[in-house]
Amino acid sequence: MKLATYTADGQTRTGIVAGDRIIDTGVAGTMIDLIRNWDALKSVLEAKAVAGGGVPLSAVKLEAPIQRPGKIFAIGLNYADHVAESNMAAPERQVWFTKAQTSVNAPYDPITIATGTTANDYEVELVAVIGAGGKHIAAADAAAAVFGYCVGNDVTERMWQHGSPQWSLGKSFDTHAPMGPWIVTADELGDPHKLGIRCFVNGEKRQDSNTSHLVFNVWQQIEHLSTGMTLEPGDVLFTGTPSGVGAAMDPRRFLQAGDVVRCEIDGLGHIEGSMVAEH
Ligand code: ZN
Repeated sequence: MKLATYTADGQTRTGIVAGDRIIDTGVAGTMIDLIRNWDALKSVLEAKAVAGGGVPLSAVKLEAPIQRPGKIFAIGLNYADHVAESNMAAPERQVWFTKAQTSVNAPYDPITIATGTTANDYEVELVAVIGAGGKHIAAADAAAAVFGYCVGNDVTERMWQHGSPQWSLGKSFDTHAPMGPWIVTADELGDPHKLGIRCFVNGEKRQDSNTSHLVFNVWQQIEHLSTGMTLEPGDVLFTGTPSGVGAAMDPRRFLQAGDVVRCEIDGLGHIEGSMVAEH
């Protein structure tokens, strides 16, 4: 099933995406509430999807599937080709940072270039949305902890990222975590480790890889994080970006106002945002 958060008639709600239409789930609350109650809701929503109806997707505004995740964690240096282009040593342990809740952005909304910044960069990433979650989840059991997947752009301001030993500020600017366009449930997607993943800027392909090249796969990531903290429904994990980021080009090619950034992953769809200068 494909599940979206959308706004229509001034109300934001959750919907089932079926082809080019979206059907109101009728479930009160946010996507996180829906995920919490998924065991009870799944068969009800499957029946709604079959019944059809709804409105054209083009008639609504898609929002980030999870608008206020309890946690946004992202792993760095997690594709071998990206490690090499970053002139960093391959990490022996997983390198994690957080992105602020307030960096969440809708899948097709503009992405802000904050006043005074000049090193805004893209990072297409597979995003895992936690379902049941839990603590001390073994890698062998981690698939069951995931609710579904979507496309993400771990937008980064490189001067701020590397202006401090901690990357989180450079990763947390407003609008710098676009996600969507919807969640594809884990059972519908199948294996998340064999998906083509690409990023385009103004139609020029900049990143082109496959999630089979993750250094630490999604199951290892969940095992590692859940060693110390409880993963909760709707927490999101940005699982790393492949090579081709603007910071690694010679000369560097950072995003400028007017640039259009499109991120896509096989089976999940695409997100696309225009870069705009902050006023
Ligand atoms: Zn990243």
